[in-house]
Amino acid sequence: MNKLDTALVSSALKEAGFELTNSVKEADVVLINTCSVREHAEQRVLSHLGHLKHIKESRPDMVVGVIGCMAQRLGDKLLEHEAVDIVCGPAQIPKITDFVLQALQEKKKCLAVTKKIRETSEIQAQALEGFESVYSSPASGWENRNFGMGQAYVRAMRGCNNFCSYCIVPYVRGPEVSRPPEAIIEQIKKLAGAGVKQVTLLGQRVNAYKYKSGEKTYCLADLLEMASDVEGIGWIRFVTSYPSEEFFDEILRAMAGSPKVCNYLHLPAQSGSDKILRAMNRHYTASQYLELVGRARSIVPDIAIAGDFIVGFPGETEEDFQATVDLVTKAGYKNCFIFKYSPRPDTTADKRLQDNVPVEIKKRRNTELLAVQEKISSELSRDFLGRQVRVLVEGLSKKPHLNKAGSDGNPQLLGRTATDYIVVFNGPESLAGEFATVKITKTSPLTLFGELF
Ligand code: SAM
Ligand code: SF4
Repeated sequence: MNKLDTALVSSALKEAGFELTNSVKEADVVLINTCSVREHAEQRVLSHLGHLKHIKESRPDMVVGVIGCMAQRLGDKLLEHEAVDIVCGPAQIPKITDFVLQALQEKKKCLAVTKKIRETSEIQAQALEGFESVYSSPASGWENRNFGMGQAYVRAMRGCNNFCSYCIVPYVRGPEVSRPPEAIIEQIKKLAGAGVKQVTLLGQRVNAYKYKSGEKTYCLADLLEMASDVEGIGWIRFVTSYPSEEFFDEILRAMAGSPKVCNYLHLPAQSGSDKILRAMNRHYTASQYLELVGRARSIVPDIAIAGDFIVGFPGETEEDFQATVDLVTKAGYKNCFIFKYSPRPDTTADKRLQDNVPVEIKKRRNTELLAVQEKISSELSRDFLGRQVRVLVEGLSKKPHLNKAGSDGNPQLLGRTATDYIVVFNGPESLAGEFATVKITKTSPLTLFGELF
């Protein structure tokens, strides 16, 4: 989501005549796009702001803006920071160019957050939709440096109505709104025309996508089918799915039925303990979750599934944690994202439950769960040895020590399979943004290594 917002804002500013620079020292304007999901992310922003304050001492004309979820959450408190000139919440980004110009010309601080974010007006929704359709397409100085080559993200839904008890998203991103299917498909066609090979449809509960138009209600499976018909698009992904029955089988059947829909499902479970799942306000039990995983595997046999977990949620006992270990063992994930519970102000968990799992125990559970997953990932990766896989090449491998020219004089490239496995191999840089076939010669838990076929 954040990468997409960064790309939209960059495109809008480019169109207004600004140029992007990688160096803060050269910049007249610095915008920080922020996330509020965990406290750690906010701490990092505050530390960046401390650094920018020093730079501003010698360059007082430099404009600093904070955009995104942290801006919406903290509003005027953030504007009090000496370094900050603009505070702009996610629903206000369509006006970002005006705010930047105002701050540069009038030297005035600007606060643009939405007072009642859960009651987004029709006008605001239209402004967001307009901004999205104009600046997410290549015609308008579209800025794609945040995605891999040949890829783009397309928002299917905004906001969230689920109110998981730990989560800040519904409070900073507003209510769930599905975008019109024709706007989404139009965007995908333009992206395909500009050489994009893979689109990822985004939503906090993207499987719940629903758009009523006349007699028909469009669901995610319809979007996947319509996107599959777009010439030039090779692969379509979607994230994140909520473990519910909502259109579950339809989506998996669309996956099984179309070679373009990637066999990959990001299905966060968060916990394996029913008691904790209830306290999290997730609306399923561990066995219902595993039943969905089983059904996904029976409809799409070679599907790769990724999970998210929170360890150390209030009240999580050793027994609850063992239930999570058990679920991870049974689910057979390709990989898992594991987070230590971080209390977020104003969420139900923060207001009603005590953050009573000591940080040392959170750390230990995090490490233990990662180790359990690593063993599973390692076994699944090993199955790829000797196989040929098709990848979309994202560009140069980012690890500098791996990025040396190989014996054939080619640099090390990074690609991804349809099932989201990272593949590192030597090849010409001109392959970036293209599909390639790689023979796997070595594996590690999270990366496959191979030779261009
Ligand atoms: N919408 C997705 C879902 O329902 O799972 C995920 C959205 S959230 C931005 C991404 C992940 O951050 C979640 O899956 C969860 O594991 C983690 N997360 C959210 N709030 C958290 C918190 N307060 N502390 C720790 N992790 C959190
Ligand atoms: Fe947060 Fe839950 Fe919504 Fe995901 S579904 S964004 S975890 S409230």
